[in-house]
Amino acid sequence: MFKGIAASPGIAVGKALVLKKENIIIERKKVDDLENEKNRFQEAVKVSRTQIERIKEKAGEEQKNIMDAHIMILEDPELLSNVEDKIQSENINVEAALDDVLNLFIAMFESMDNEYMKERAADIKDVGQRLLMNLLGKEIPNLSVLKDEVVLVAHDITPSDTAQMDREKVLGFITDIGGRTSHSAIMARSMEIPAVLGLKNITEQVKTGDYVAFDGDEGVVFVNPEDSVVKSYLERKEKELAVKRELMRLVDSQSVSLDERRVEIGCNIGNPQDATKAHENGAEGIGLYRTEFLYMDRTTLPSEDEQYQAYKAVLEIMGGRPVVIRTLDIGGDKELPYMNLPKEANPFLGYRAIRICLDRKDIFKTQLRALLRASVYGNLKIMYPMISCVEEIRSANRILEEVRQELDRENIAYASDFEVGIMIEIPSAAVISDLLADEVDFFSIGTNDLIQYTTAVDRMNEKISHLYNPFNPAVLRLIKTVIDSGHAAGIWVGMCGEVAGDKRLIPILLGMGLDEFSMSAGSILPARKQIQNLSYEKMKALADQVLKMKSAEEIEKFVAQNV
Ligand code: PEP
Ligand code: MG
Repeated sequence: MFKGIAASPGIAVGKALVLKKENIIIERKKVDDLENEKNRFQEAVKVSRTQIERIKEKAGEEQKNIMDAHIMILEDPELLSNVEDKIQSENINVEAALDDVLNLFIAMFESMDNEYMKERAADIKDVGQRLLMNLLGKEIPNLSVLKDEVVLVAHDITPSDTAQMDREKVLGFITDIGGRTSHSAIMARSMEIPAVLGLKNITEQVKTGDYVAFDGDEGVVFVNPEDSVVKSYLERKEKELAVKRELMRLVDSQSVSLDERRVEIGCNIGNPQDATKAHENGAEGIGLYRTEFLYMDRTTLPSEDEQYQAYKAVLEIMGGRPVVIRTLDIGGDKELPYMNLPKEANPFLGYRAIRICLDRKDIFKTQLRALLRASVYGNLKIMYPMISCVEEIRSANRILEEVRQELDRENIAYASDFEVGIMIEIPSAAVISDLLADEVDFFSIGTNDLIQYTTAVDRMNEKISHLYNPFNPAVLRLIKTVIDSGHAAGIWVGMCGEVAGDKRLIPILLGMGLDEFSMSAGSILPARKQIQNLSYEKMKALADQVLKMKSAEEIEKFVAQNV
């Protein structure tokens, strides 16, 4: 039995296909004919591009985006010119020059604090490997033509591996390297393929044709196990499928408690493709569209038109259901290298989100124009992040008003009645939520930040992660305050932090009167099922008791025993 990192849930049982990655040896030599080296480089870029285009033809939406990102890397002027300059200045062969430049780029991305940017290093490695294989005339494995169902066993699964993977044939994958937030893990979860990563040297322990059974929830892998193990895994897999089928029956049903308290379950998304997944998983709306992803992984700000297309796409996919689009929430752990923002000692307490938008009116106005123009295609709700006081709402609304007037002057249509709300994720906002409620149409509680600011626990710091606890009585009391303030002013109150999809806390939140729960696509149907089996009146009494308790531990135990 091998133990790795549980990266993507689900059970896989089947025959192994071991992908042996070539160990590429890069020779470094002086060359005379520099033009020839540069031509070979151009040719390798061309061939790689054709290969990627071919993968793209068969790929799904999400994978297409990855392949587009790979083409962008291939076309990156800095990468191309750096390689050619190196050949020229050092009189070396293209393989050595390319390897040097790639290592530099990869190190730069890997050193970034931000997980998302770190992941871009995986894409550069992947494109780099392809270029080198093509330069060396080596064959690149093709995962789109698998004959039989297999469990893939690889050193690492690259973005182009996942992009060309036949979802019907790949039962799961296990790898030597990678962790929960590595690219391969993110892709596995989004493709709903079970995966265990970080098994160190599993490629040496398994041969193609061996029988593999593993559980992506526990991170446990068996190679050629006894029949009894295979049997129990197959039974569990069957049960898992039955649960999934059962949940799919709830796709069109309402999120309503046993005693008829109706809430709304929305989905958190980062791009228009996610909206399709949200819709397929029965989302009653989009509770949070994190627009910052539109601004990342590129070298310039997105244009008004580009943004308009993305917002319009989401509104159309959701067909009239509410779509909460959050204005740019950059800063903190989310960097935009091209904005050259100065390094700060406390980035989470610094120049970020609405603070940047109120300072850089040009950026904010472009986004608001795009949002308003898109508003005619569905049920748009605009949400400002990181609000800490009344003045910020008023300032943001003044800019919104300017944009309305500009569009009026230009005779550009926009919806007249869209709602404007705020995230409540800073304790000061929660404390004065009664005052803020008079200024907006809704609240959405951002527990990811609210917990870190309330308890002074950095959400990114592993060392103190045991202190990052949503059951903390201070956090729960603040949440209750916000819900009550919103209701007293007659506005709805949602939640789009991770807590909203946490099955341990959903009963308390229901009891506190939360109106909308927004979560990742995979959590929607289990949450709906849970709510359909709860009594609102009972949860209300439970929440009242919880709010009198003294410790997180006591609350967690009490809820587990009484729901
Ligand atoms: C939050 O803070 O809870 C939230 C939803 O926003 P983000 O995770 O993007 O900071
Ligand atoms: Mg936040």
